[in-house]
This record gives sequence, C-alpha cells and structure tokens, in this order.
Amino acid sequence: MTHPSQPAATVPTTGDLIQSLARAAEWGAAYLASLGDRPVQSRIKPGDLLARLPESPPEQPPENPQLEWDAIYRDLEELILPSLTHWQSPSFFAFFPCNQSAPTIVAELLSAMLNVNGMNWATSPGVTELEIRTLDWMAHAMGLPACFRSDAPEGGGVIQSTASDATLVALLAARHRARRLHPDDLDVDTRLCVYTSTQAHSSVVKAAMIAGLARAPDDTRRLRLIAADSDLRMDPDALGRAMREDVERGLVPAFISATLGTTSSGAFDPLVPICDVADQAPRRPWVHVDAAWAGAALVCPEHREQMRPGLDRADSLCVNPHKWLLTNFDCDLMWTRCVGDLVGALSITPEYLRHESQLNGAVDFRDWQVPLGRRFRALKLWLLLRMFGIEGLRAHIRGGVRWAEELEGWVRADDRFEVAAPRSLSLLCVRLRAGDAPTRALLDRVNASGRAFLSHTTLPEGEGEARYVIRIAIGGTHTRREHVEGLWALLRDEADAVLRSTP
Ligand code: PLP
Repeated sequence: MTHPSQPAATVPTTGDLIQSLARAAEWGAAYLASLGDRPVQSRIKPGDLLARLPESPPEQPPENPQLEWDAIYRDLEELILPSLTHWQSPSFFAFFPCNQSAPTIVAELLSAMLNVNGMNWATSPGVTELEIRTLDWMAHAMGLPACFRSDAPEGGGVIQSTASDATLVALLAARHRARRLHPDDLDVDTRLCVYTSTQAHSSVVKAAMIAGLARAPDDTRRLRLIAADSDLRMDPDALGRAMREDVERGLVPAFISATLGTTSSGAFDPLVPICDVADQAPRRPWVHVDAAWAGAALVCPEHREQMRPGLDRADSLCVNPHKWLLTNFDCDLMWTRCVGDLVGALSITPEYLRHESQLNGAVDFRDWQVPLGRRFRALKLWLLLRMFGIEGLRAHIRGGVRWAEELEGWVRADDRFEVAAPRSLSLLCVRLRAGDAPTRALLDRVNASGRAFLSHTTLPEGEGEARYVIRIAIGGTHTRREHVEGLWALLRDEADAVLRSTP
C-alpha cells in the first residue's frame, strides 16, 4: 500500500490499484449476493444520513491507507447501504427496472480506467467510431428502419445520458428546423408549439420549459397536452384539432413527442396516424418517439408489430438500454434521420476545438448533445452484444413478459383485485376493487415489509376521477419467476390484512 510519507496525489502503484479494485469487486459481488436478505426500500428518514456524516472533510490523507479502506468498507455497510433502495434487488418492481450485467459493469470499470474524454473525433477516435458502429448494431438488433443507420444520408445514432436529454435535444433540433423552414420570420421562436399526450413522461414538459416554450408545467399556451383514448394512447384526432387551431391562431406546430410505452401504463401511441397528422401541417413538425422503456422489446420480432409501424416516418427515437436491456446506467440510445437539424441546433466550434478531420467528415458527437465532454459509454454496448448476442437480450425480455403474463392471470383469478389497464409487455397495473384508499394501504404495507418494492400512479377512468393504481414492472436483471410468485403471495397476504381492517 502507499507509504504515508508519499504525497497524496501520487499515482498508486500497480499493486495498490489491483488490490483496491479486487477488494471493490469482491465487495460488490458479496453485496449483490446479499440482496435477497436486505429490505428493498431504504427505511431511513430525511436527514438521518446527513446527521451521521462529519460536517467537514478530512484535511490530511490517512496515515494508514489500509486502515482507512477498512473504515470505508465498514461505513459503506453501516451508513450507506441502509440509506439506499436496492434497485438491483430481484424484488424491485417499482418505476421501471434499472438493469445491470457483468459485461457492462466491466465496461464501466474499463471506461473508468481509460478515462478518456471523447468530446470530438480527434480527442479519441475510437470513442466515436465504436459508438457509431455499436449504435448501428443496436439498430440492427432492434430491427429499426434503415433511415436511422449511420450509412443513411442524414441518419445515425448517438448515446445520450438519459431519455430526458434525448427529448430535449430533439426539441432543440425541431426548433432549428422551424427556423430553417421560416427563414424570414425572425420571431418564429415565440410562436412554436409542442404536442404530447397527457400520458407522456414529464421530461417532455420539462424540455419545453428548458427551451423557453412553457414557463411552468401548467403553462399550456404553446405546450399542448393531447387527450388520450380509453386505452391511454394519444388521440390523433385531438392532435389534429389542436394543431389546426394553433395554425389558425398564427402559431407554428414544431414538435410532437409520441410515446411507445408510457410511464404510467405502458400504452403505445399510434404512430401512423400521428405522422399522418404531422404531414398535414403547413410545415412538417419534428416527430420524436420516446420509447425509453418499451423500446428494449424491439429486439424481439414478436413485439415489433406494436411499435414499428410509423417509426420510419419519425425524425428521432430514443431507447434506454439502462432500463430493460441489461446495460448499466447510464445509456440512452438516440437515433435521428435528420442529423443536419440536430447538429445545426447544437454545433459551435471555437478555435480550440477545431481539428483537421472535421474537413474529412469526421463525426463530432459533442454537436449531438448538450455537454461538451463525453464518457466512453459505447464500451458497454460493445461488451453487451459480444457477451449476450441478440438472442441473449431476447431471452431477458421474454422472461419479463412471460412472468408478467402469468402474474396477470393470477390477479384476474382473484376477485378482490382488478387489472387497471391493459398489460403492456412486462408492466402490469393493478388495484383493489375496494377502492383508492385500500389500494394505497396495500402498497404501503408491501413496501414497509421490505420484501418487495412497488410504485404507484393514477390512471384516468373515463370522464371520472383518476384512480390510484399499483404499478408492477418486471424485468430486473436478477428477477426470476420465484420472485414474481413471492410478490403475488405478499400482495395476497397484505390484501387480506387491508381488507380485514377496511370497514
Ligand atoms: N420517457 C419515459 C417513457 C420514461 O418512462 C422515462 C422514465 O421512466 C423517461 C422518459 C425518463 O427517463 P430518463 O431518466 O432516462 O430521463
């Protein structure tokens, strides 16, 4: 280990580094093996951890680094782990899964060791070129239309950090397109409108706020939240009406965000009629497809039917392998068929970022994203596909869908429960027929048990009040059928307790 008299910033010796990494790997493997025994949701109260952390950092490096590492691992166990909700627990069914896998953990480690910044082609050509190739591999794995591939005239894919980033840059590209299509209208920015459904993820509204199209989430003057039908899919007729009204008011429809797999219920917006409506606008708005979660299922040919029609008419698409495709966080894949507008919106080249290869058409991914710097995330896709193959990814998706189907059958056979929305892939929304309060009580009891973790949403019910429902999202890396069976037994037992105490 490092000698105490060495300056703190000294590069560790190879032996030190190997020892530290080996210990971290050992600790991580033991942690993952222990997940079945830990309460899934953290039980600490706000401020609990803060109260146990020193107010100031250490001034000096430790005299004995070995002892300090021992203390760090003790603190990890005693302070940090109780303050975490264990997203990798096989009984984590909340929100959407946040997958991991051995190859992508290793890729994260390799990326940390290399620690290159691939902000443009010249700063590490391999970061850019591996990303171009692996995004084409993923497009192939998901059966995406050829317009999104890097060999299409204006096509290509890029890794963003999150779906929220992808939606934001798609909106900025849409604004660039609108400016391009209205070259004489210097005020066009003040008249642009965004359309998405009431069921879309909040990141679309947030993107509109960041881009200056809405002052607050409820500022709907240029942010139109389109009604959903009884299956919670965007209503294209309502979209058409809203766009026509806006054009009559002198506004400019610029951006439509459709969702394949909404967050609350997993609904699929109908892309073909949405694109038909977009085509009827005086100047075509940008159509972005947010398939952050469900897009992973495109690797299975049997799930393409409900997602592919219309994709070849979209301008951009995003999918998060870090949700349901065995890839460590963070990794959002974004494809576009209109690179020109994306780069037009985001490119700026000061002298210090010029390099000769730009003249030869080298891709600079800094022009496809908001930040300048970029991590080497393509390593994750490269190792993922090499170690699982597309067939391995399909097996993972199919397991989640199969267990959700089984769970749906069990829920339907128990007349205390109801399925609150059509099951979507591996997402099932359920509730107690007894109503909102008992359903909420059931969720609280399940989560308090520590044996599983679920989240909730509300879903509109016809013209009536929104109803409280429990979302069950299957698809964790370590989840197996037995964990889904365990969840169902827990739900039934806790439902007994709730209904016994309900007057
Ligand atoms: N879009 C949809 C449909 C989502 O379900 C989510 C998150 O669950 C997001 C976007 C936001 O994802 P991210 O955290 O990658 O921004």
